[in-house]
Amino acid sequence: MKDLTHEVNHLVEWLGEFGKDPEGGVTRLLYTHEWIEAQKALEKLMQDDGLTTRYDEIGNLFGRLEGSKYNDETILTGSHVDTVKNGGKLDGAYGILAGILALRYLKAKFGQPLRNLEVVSFAEEEGSRFPYAFWGSKNLVGIAKKEDVESIEDFDGVPFVDAMREAGFDFRDESKSMRNDIKGFVEIHIEQGNVLENEGKDIGVVHSIVGQRRFTVDVKGVANHAGTTPMGYRKDALFAASQMIQDIITKAKEYGDPLVATVGKIEVKPSIVNVVPGHALFTLDVRHTEKEVLIKFTDELTTIINRIATESGVETNVDMWMDEDPIPMDQQVVDAIEKQTKENGFNYKMMHSGAGHDSQIIAPVVPTAMIFVPSRGGISHNPLEYTSPEELAVGVKALINSLYALAYEE
Ligand SMILES: [Zn+2]
Repeated sequence: MKDLTHEVNHLVEWLGEFGKDPEGGVTRLLYTHEWIEAQKALEKLMQDDGLTTRYDEIGNLFGRLEGSKYNDETILTGSHVDTVKNGGKLDGAYGILAGILALRYLKAKFGQPLRNLEVVSFAEEEGSRFPYAFWGSKNLVGIAKKEDVESIEDFDGVPFVDAMREAGFDFRDESKSMRNDIKGFVEIHIEQGNVLENEGKDIGVVHSIVGQRRFTVDVKGVANHAGTTPMGYRKDALFAASQMIQDIITKAKEYGDPLVATVGKIEVKPSIVNVVPGHALFTLDVRHTEKEVLIKFTDELTTIINRIATESGVETNVDMWMDEDPIPMDQQVVDAIEKQTKENGFNYKMMHSGAGHDSQIIAPVVPTAMIFVPSRGGISHNPLEYTSPEELAVGVKALINSLYALAYEE
């Protein structure tokens, strides 16, 4: 256990050097020099461990330990190698490194598995360089399409396709059939929230990933003179918007966990000290583990907005521009992880993920589940992202046990 703590810490620090940003944290964006160097280094690390490595067409990297009996069945683990701009050392990276360590340990202790065991370093998950997320996992399951990325560019105007080809990769051959040997996927990841820390738990066994709906609410009133327009004659868009926000957030609190609703952005026009705001726009991000609740909450927030608009004499337009269903994890894989976690005496919690992960792309196709480790202060996508080496090692142990159950047992 002490060795594992040391090893996982060492590897996290090591991988964090690839894309270490002078402005802080790690910036390892898809198909950049830093990204290429990281994938190459991970490939070498896997090879040194005796794994057979290969890249798929778009740059997902796989390391494989051949199975002895069920050669057409593969258990996959891993996560994404890319980071956000000035991200931490753990988001994504930990899942790949824990996978490599788990395979190293299992091979040394138990030899060849019955089923193939593979660790993947997904090319991209964050959508941080180009306006497209989950490029790695969407290619694995065959739902990424050429036309999705053919005309997109990064902020410097570099076309996606040029960046990909320059890095030595190309589009997946969409006429070729997809892999059908993958029978299970387990992704270990930092929680990126503060639930495990607050509850004093070491491990989260994730049973679902929340669905999300995102809205832009446009409120139109009348801009007017702040001195000469009596209060009773105003159509103040900002005041109406603020009442809407107040009532929506209050309603969200009434719903309670696991519903979360966030107004993260607000714009006011003309945004001048002595003018009644004629225009206000705010965004709304709503998440829950059940689709029916998301629908019900959407109905209620629409009612709130319409009521306040009528009372205030303003016009509104509610645009729902994202509607992603909640994704349940596979019950059998969840059970396997929970059983191992319980038997080995880990202090664990069954929970949902409030953030998106590669697992939500893979789960509809392959039986999938996730393991979480605590994030200090719930901080992520930030250089301050931290999980202690001891906690990281506990996570690797939970992963080892889970992969053992899936790949070594009949
Ligand atoms: Zn991640």
